[in-house]
Amino acid sequence: MSEQSQSSAPQEQMNFQAEVSQLMKLMIHSLYSNPEIFLRELISNASDACDKLRFEAIANEQLLENNSDLRIQVACDEEAKTITVTDNGIGMNREEVINNIGTIAKSGTKQFLESLTGDQKTDSQLIGQFGVGFYSAFVVADKVELSTRRAGDSSDAGVKWTSDGTGGFTLESIEKADRGTQIVLHLKDDHKDFAGAWRLRSVIKKYSDHITFPIMMLEQLPPPPPPSEDSEEPEEPPKEAQLEQVNAASALWTRQKSQVKDDEYEEFYKQVFSDYEAPLMWTHNRVEGTQEYTSLLYIPKKAPFDLYDASNQRNGIKLFVQRVFIMDEAEKLMPRYLRFVRGLVDSNDLPLNVSREILQDSKVIDSIRRASVKKLLSMLESMAEKEPEKYSEFWVEFGQCLKEAPGEDFANKDQVAKLYRFDTTQNAKVGELTSLDDYIARMKPGQEKLYYITADSYTAASNSPHLEIFKDKGIEVLLMHDRVDEWMMSYLNEYEGKSFVSVAKGDLDLSGIGLDDAEKAAEDKAKEEKAEQAEPLIARIKAILEKETSDVRASTRLTSSPACIVLGEHEMALHMQQLMKQAGHEVPGSQPILEVNPSHPILTMLDEEQDEDQFASWSRLLLDQALLAEGGQLEDSAGFVKRMNEMFMALHQRST
Ligand code: ADP
Repeated sequence: MSEQSQSSAPQEQMNFQAEVSQLMKLMIHSLYSNPEIFLRELISNASDACDKLRFEAIANEQLLENNSDLRIQVACDEEAKTITVTDNGIGMNREEVINNIGTIAKSGTKQFLESLTGDQKTDSQLIGQFGVGFYSAFVVADKVELSTRRAGDSSDAGVKWTSDGTGGFTLESIEKADRGTQIVLHLKDDHKDFAGAWRLRSVIKKYSDHITFPIMMLEQLPPPPPPSEDSEEPEEPPKEAQLEQVNAASALWTRQKSQVKDDEYEEFYKQVFSDYEAPLMWTHNRVEGTQEYTSLLYIPKKAPFDLYDASNQRNGIKLFVQRVFIMDEAEKLMPRYLRFVRGLVDSNDLPLNVSREILQDSKVIDSIRRASVKKLLSMLESMAEKEPEKYSEFWVEFGQCLKEAPGEDFANKDQVAKLYRFDTTQNAKVGELTSLDDYIARMKPGQEKLYYITADSYTAASNSPHLEIFKDKGIEVLLMHDRVDEWMMSYLNEYEGKSFVSVAKGDLDLSGIGLDDAEKAAEDKAKEEKAEQAEPLIARIKAILEKETSDVRASTRLTSSPACIVLGEHEMALHMQQLMKQAGHEVPGSQPILEVNPSHPILTMLDEEQDEDQFASWSRLLLDQALLAEGGQLEDSAGFVKRMNEMFMALHQRST
């Protein structure tokens, strides 16, 4: 065996997962004008590694290897064009290196790749959201060496990972006396100025000031004075540079509210939650008494792109116990419908070794959650009141999330509903929104119900034939056209003691609204007479449509359309039934009710039709067009077209 092979451990060459290569290319491209992000990402990983060690050491003190002084060190070498980031955190074993650095374990990768926009600002934020931070090293480096050893493992269990960021990486076993991870970046020529101490310091101050572990760099010594010729004194030996701390490392939330400036809150948010935009709002609270905790909760300005994906189970709350970071995404701390809130809770009452399982039924967590929700809801309420424009911004981004509340948070149903905003028939244009309180304030004398319609678009809602009688009587109707609305309304039965009624479902009784007793009596009488007169016609239609409908009746809703579809009070709207069917769900449903408008000329024409075949054909046409207007789908669309063409022909024949 040669000496050479004895001293160097065998190297193993491995390939990146295909997605990693793709990702790296995209990232290098998208971070082109913001390359300094790499340092934030590496320091954030180093800080996470220290957090993990501190947390694991609570149960197993030996992991600390007699050194509990956790820190991060950044160094550079201008000549060699290298930057070195070192931490004494948890480190990684061989298997972890392979799994964490070289594959992307996160499930959303494909989605991430699809979501890159080409816009640098947005993309660099997405990169933070997806935690692919390590690879940003290749934005500035053409070679990266990562040496690491897991805390608690023996010193010969070190691993060195090396890659040029193209096809793959090599792994070799190394001796590593200190636990933790060291990353050496060999800078590309066009980024070699990062290997300057001033530059690094300013990048650290800018992006990593809040990191709670000290980030150390060698102090910068003034250049030695030029040797003076006439000096007799012996030259002093050069001073040795000491390590000094670069970041402030203060946990911002532990400070008094009055001592923290707005831009500090904003910077903290941007750094900790990787957002390039300042938050819309925040609330910082210290609670003392039976429970002691601090919460700092932010509402972002923009919704993340995957907020409404069913697969997105993320939650933005970090849990600390006595300043020690415990976990990300503490889902028990925030209900699903507030999943867009970012922030942290630092409790003094929970044990340091708390786990997700313990959180599941922790009374402490329950009460923090209840109080945090209340705080957020009242903050939104006062924003809506005092800063309506800002509130509209919020509503556009996150309103659909809040609409999930009635199904999830029964206790706060009314308080959340107060925050809702809707289009209505009274508003001049789409997007000019109304609160339920405004709606109630505008209700007609005698009106006791809150009327609404759901549809799959604003246009479909605002043009629905179901609104005719309401327009006629000047009764306002809420136009709901978000996908979640139908679902929300199945939980939201009333607001301020007034029940919601869908204008497209069940029997409609508008009698009495806006009329005095005499007028009401006259209206009732006229209605009865009309219905009586229409009876024979309706019986004829009913006989034809016996299979397709559960009932045919004279309408109280229509004034200008000939017919419309009405659903049972508890049935799902047709456009939703359609969606559910497309998604492969079974939709229990009975046949719809057809309501006809006996005063309409088409109905008069039908009444006069002697040819029974023609009558049957026209009746079917009436049903089909009512289904279409309702967003339903025809089972026999070819039959519909055929009947329509026949009608054109018949009209033509009659007119010649
Ligand atoms: P993220 O940090 O968001 O998970 P990264 O790509 O930056 O994504 O890192 C991938 C994983 O590699 C981390 O989750 C962590 O497990 C591991 N890792 C990265 N840097 C370090 C480090 N300095 N010490 C220990 N583990 C690390």
